[in-house]
Amino acid sequence: MIVIMEQSATKEQIDAVAKKVESMGLKSNVIVGTERTVIAAIGDKRSDFKDSIESSPGVSGVAPISAPYKMASREVRPEPSEVKVLDFAAGAGSVGFIGGPCSVESEEQLMSTARAVKAAGATGLRGGAFKPRTSPYSFQGMKEEGLKLLAAAREETGLAVFTEVMATEDVDLVASYADVLQVGARNMQNYRLLEAVGKSGKAVLLKRGASATMDEFLLAAEYILNEGNEQVMLCERGIRTFESHTRFTLPLASVPYLHRRTHLPVIIDPSHGTGHTYMVHDMSVAAVAAGADGIILEVHPDPSNAMSDGYQSQTFGEFTKTMSRCQKVLTALQD
Ligand code: PEP
Ligand code: MN
Repeated sequence: MIVIMEQSATKEQIDAVAKKVESMGLKSNVIVGTERTVIAAIGDKRSDFKDSIESSPGVSGVAPISAPYKMASREVRPEPSEVKVLDFAAGAGSVGFIGGPCSVESEEQLMSTARAVKAAGATGLRGGAFKPRTSPYSFQGMKEEGLKLLAAAREETGLAVFTEVMATEDVDLVASYADVLQVGARNMQNYRLLEAVGKSGKAVLLKRGASATMDEFLLAAEYILNEGNEQVMLCERGIRTFESHTRFTLPLASVPYLHRRTHLPVIIDPSHGTGHTYMVHDMSVAAVAAGADGIILEVHPDPSNAMSDGYQSQTFGEFTKTMSRCQKVLTALQD
């Protein structure tokens, strides 16, 4: 249910309603909008809820939330949210660019990439230190050594560090180095991990599972929001279909769909979404044109010798070109 407060409601009235909601065994979340304040009352429906709350001072009305996800829904928060970390910002008009290697491999590889993506205009640096690999014999990442290199790269460049956390027991460690915790596609429905990143106090980039529906994706985000963490971004990274000309199928219709359903920023990952470097530029430009709130791209100093995902990674020169084209599209869209 959402409790819609009157525009003239006082802080005391809002607090009193929130307290009343909690006394009924429901979770209350006060969302202050530019036009009105609403209180999301979340939990099992109670038949006596509506009458009792509707008569409280300062309350304009009570309405059900029809979406299965609550805090993530536009019904609860009609205005888009912005996630801001250091100079990186995404959502509510801000478009954030993140570049970096699939995996952190060495100091030289990471630092040169960080400098290049920063020079091209990115404000986020990606790099996996804990890597979810299909084969147990593939490179699994540099783990804490990789995290240290990422923190050093932030120190020098000021870029916000995005890195994956794969397991609940690693959340504290990864959060002590990262600015944004990435939950990978393979873990989108690892509910204990979602709760743990929700409690971490760090912003989260939640990647869509390769076979997840939109409702499953948004309900996964709901787990994080439900822990009181509002700094959540959704990442469309492509889904598995019958088609094999691309590694995954990248549905850009996810951008307008998600913007209709949720206030959370939507980031597009054309690297994993296509699996081929030659497609990454065009799909990045298309994503920005479709209204994406950010782009995350794999960039490597020498893609043909990368330890993971080189076939979909851009060189520094390619990334710079993509960035400049995306900026031109953004400028054109402002008119
Ligand atoms: C990655 O970003 O390198 C990655 C493993 O992504 P995903 O979880 O989308 O496969
Ligand atoms: Mn990758």
